[in-house]
Amino acid sequence: MERILEVNDLHVTFTTYGGTVQAVRGVNFHLDKGETLAIVGESGCGKSVTSNAIMRLIPDPPGKITKGSIIFKGQDLAAYSEKKMRAIRGVDISMIFQDPMTALNPTLTIGTQLMEGLKEHKKITGTQAKQKAIEMMDLVGIPNPEERLKQYPHQFSGGMRQRIVIAIALICDPDLLIADEPTTALDVTIQAQILELFSTIQQRTGVSIILITHDLGVVAKIADRIIVMYAGKIIESGSKRDIFYRPEHPYTQGLLNSVPRLDAKEELKPIAGTPPDLFSPPKGCPFTARCPFAMEVCDKVYPVSNRVSDSHQVDCWLQDERAKQLIAAEVLQT
Ligand code: SF4
Ligand code: MG
Repeated sequence: MERILEVNDLHVTFTTYGGTVQAVRGVNFHLDKGETLAIVGESGCGKSVTSNAIMRLIPDPPGKITKGSIIFKGQDLAAYSEKKMRAIRGVDISMIFQDPMTALNPTLTIGTQLMEGLKEHKKITGTQAKQKAIEMMDLVGIPNPEERLKQYPHQFSGGMRQRIVIAIALICDPDLLIADEPTTALDVTIQAQILELFSTIQQRTGVSIILITHDLGVVAKIADRIIVMYAGKIIESGSKRDIFYRPEHPYTQGLLNSVPRLDAKEELKPIAGTPPDLFSPPKGCPFTARCPFAMEVCDKVYPVSNRVSDSHQVDCWLQDERAKQLIAAEVLQT
């Protein structure tokens, strides 16, 4: 497996008048070629900040990557200048966002917007650019591409516009596509079609995908591996099977319990309480205040990362009976 991305001990802060928010607190993960990794969690957990950090789109100030590395194809993006990043964005790494309307310029034709990046970054003739634009429209499932290149965004439906946004993101053949809530603004039927499209594109192009979402239904459809974030940390990670069939962290279990199922007769059970304040994050497990299994050690010491299996890791004291007792004894004495 070719490793595309490795994020090591990433820390991101935002300095405000009220103090410094520790938005991402020591995040580690990797991504291989052709893989889809989902980053899930409630809003404010640090998932978008993590993906924006990879793209180096954290506005500095007030934001700052204070520690860690972002190794993309062997190069540390955390150390890149803005000039070097500009050559990477939209070319080697592309990003798409929730709202397809704001991503498109209403005053330019779809063709112009598709070919813009190509002309800027690749040595290519007008005819070649147009050919590539038609190919991309075809790839994302837009009929009569040649005709439709001449049209404007408002002449397309919401689902079609999101297809165009995806085509623009992929036109320079990036190695990595980051999609932040890509289907949240779409209705359910269109959502399913767009998710299907991601799978098709991945099979045809081999692009690696990071999918940022709070929607576990979306994750179930297309992710290979899943990272669960809470209060700026990855509290559990594993394959799709690990997370859906054997969630170990009480927070992950809570998230899964709160997903409505088609056959569900029970009410949706949201997790009670709110995440901790990241101006002064807790020393111990950040889920302590909401956790039905919290023990005395939990809010005093952050749990060690436990390997459930080769693919599955969890940060929770429940998984580590022995360490729990040792540390409990030590901590509770002092
Ligand atoms: Fe709950 Fe403790 Fe595990 Fe945190 S470490 S999730 S508080 S049991
Ligand atoms: Mg977000």
